[in-house]
Amino acid sequence: MARLSAYNAKRDFGRTREPRGRIGKGKAQRFVIQRHDATRLHYDFRLELDGVYKSWAVTKVPSLDPATKRLAVEVEDHPLDYGTFEGTIPQGEYGGGTVQLWDRGTWKSQSENPPSRDLEKGQLKIELGGRGLKGGWALEGRRDETKPGRKTRHNWLLIKERDAAARPGEPDTLLKEDTSVKSGRTLEEIAQKTRKVWHSSKAATTAKRAAPARKAATKPAAKKKSRARKRKAKA
Ligand code: MN
Repeated sequence: MARLSAYNAKRDFGRTREPRGRIGKGKAQRFVIQRHDATRLHYDFRLELDGVYKSWAVTKVPSLDPATKRLAVEVEDHPLDYGTFEGTIPQGEYGGGTVQLWDRGTWKSQSENPPSRDLEKGQLKIELGGRGLKGGWALEGRRDETKPGRKTRHNWLLIKERDAAARPGEPDTLLKEDTSVKSGRTLEEIAQKTRKVWHSSKAATTAKRAAPARKAATKPAAKKKSRARKRKAKA
């Protein structure tokens, strides 16, 4: 479980409906991009590799213009179950905000080397078959950014290759894709529906009211409640 321990440590599964981290077994190499309306809107780019999703938070909409490179900050590996997750992470929890399945498909490496080695070297060239992201792409590792007292950020660049799917001079063209590849919903529709369901339970009300300052005080109560509800549901 070592590869998903960072993922699990950051989340309270009594409060978020994101999946628990388990190493998966998959044949096709999948990729997903989840548009995540958190503190700042970003695009979580995930590539299936060795039973987990290698993950990067792309700070702007992926660019179909090869000349416009996007910063992709490496984040913790995610479980393969995460690839179908769409919904709202409660405010005050890690990554609080709405998640939309924005693109998905399969990927393959363009090189002969194992992708894990290319990733270590900071140079991965891939082919993507998604709704918005197609053809050749590259992930290039950049020098890490370390500030005193802060965690090292592993910065990469996500770059479109020059091919038939490229759109030179149109870096923001994918902004027009604003619906889910899973449900067809916009971020707003996902947020509203989730809130409706979420509101109907007591735990939901607690989650919404819990301001960061009160979090420590309300958290154990909310946890107890959700465990109690689970017991009730089983009974
Ligand atoms: Mn995210």
